[in-house]
Amino acid sequence: MISQYAGISPKRDLLLLNTLGKAFKGKTFLHVNSTRAGGGVAEILHRMIPLLNSLGIDARWEVIEGDQKFFDITKKIHNALQGNMENITEEMWEYYYEVNKRNAKNINLEADGVLIHDPQPAPLINFKKNGKWIWRCHIDLSKPSPEVSNHLEPFCKKYDAIIFSVPKFARAMATDEFIVPPSIDPLSEKNMELTEEEIKGVAEKFQIPLDRPILLQVSRFDRFKDPIGVIQTYRKVKKYNDCVLVLAGSPATDDPEGEAVLEEVREYAANDPDIHILLLPPFSDKDINALQRMATVVFQKSLKEGFGLTVSEAMWKGKPVIGGAVGGIPLQIVHGITGFLIHSVDGAAFRTRQFLNNPLMAKRMGETGREYVRRNFLITRQMRDYLSLWYAVENKDKGIVFEL
Ligand code: UDP
Repeated sequence: MISQYAGISPKRDLLLLNTLGKAFKGKTFLHVNSTRAGGGVAEILHRMIPLLNSLGIDARWEVIEGDQKFFDITKKIHNALQGNMENITEEMWEYYYEVNKRNAKNINLEADGVLIHDPQPAPLINFKKNGKWIWRCHIDLSKPSPEVSNHLEPFCKKYDAIIFSVPKFARAMATDEFIVPPSIDPLSEKNMELTEEEIKGVAEKFQIPLDRPILLQVSRFDRFKDPIGVIQTYRKVKKYNDCVLVLAGSPATDDPEGEAVLEEVREYAANDPDIHILLLPPFSDKDINALQRMATVVFQKSLKEGFGLTVSEAMWKGKPVIGGAVGGIPLQIVHGITGFLIHSVDGAAFRTRQFLNNPLMAKRMGETGREYVRRNFLITRQMRDYLSLWYAVENKDKGIVFEL
């Protein structure tokens, strides 16, 4: 219920949300993505769909189905959009389209508003029945492979609007573009308050010592998240400061590279007893919450990043954060105010030691970070944005024109 957010979320968001809820009462709002578990998109949808329903909107969430071959192809598309060199053949593009075509038959695509998340289900637009269709891109498009974006563009152009997480990902397109950063839910198991006992219980379960500084990164095992760089950072810090490192991740069904990356990370960690590599099952939200709350410093040392929900999650828990200066991370980390942005392992190690040696500064930045998240990155703000722009798209024919 939205009323539970009173006193937590900014009032301006709640007021607008209530009005928009009335405007869309009884309307159907369909979200489609490619995994029910793992990664930020699923994380948000799990929480947002019931909240939209509580506003009286008939929101639904569908997940496209694909086999290993499909997800290998879509991971290549994802990697190429984030700047990697990938060879995607015509046959692969055709298979990508065929799987979407099959899904279009199985999924009820009828809705007043449809939000398609990320490239995996983007071709569904060709099977549009009714309503307004919006494509929502969550990935880092700062330097996409032109070949792959050209292949996707014919689909993108057919949408009524496109949403990016970060202004610099937007590009000249013949369709309306909007910027909506993602968000976290302060009332979810992932982010709610926990007791000391609960935190201790999780530390015991994973045998993490609470009497030593804990460095943490929570993320899928994905090379763009730079887990190896995190271990290198920890090793540099460890020369001067005692600490343990926790790398926690769980598999995502639409990410076939996870296992290989996990193996690389294990090998690189070389049985260091102070490196805890935790492969968590999906929906380990309370455990992750506890890990973030017991951490002394939280990393998101990504090399490319759509947004990086883990940064806001840690900031909400008052933790000092260190993040790669990529994608959506600089939206959350105001350098030197709500955390530190870094560009290298050396930078990360330097800032980590600064936090470990200045607990007061770390505490102050953590507190500022929490307030920054409250104002900007809670789920109520994101719902407000989605509904506002859906309203704008609905009413575009009535003469509202968007121009930057
Ligand atoms: N996450 C999780 N378990 C894990 C690893 C990550 O629940 O083992 C969650 C994490 O807490 C965050 C989301 O998955 O809510 C990751 O979102 P982010 O935007 O950081 O990255 P993405 O995976 O979408 O690239």
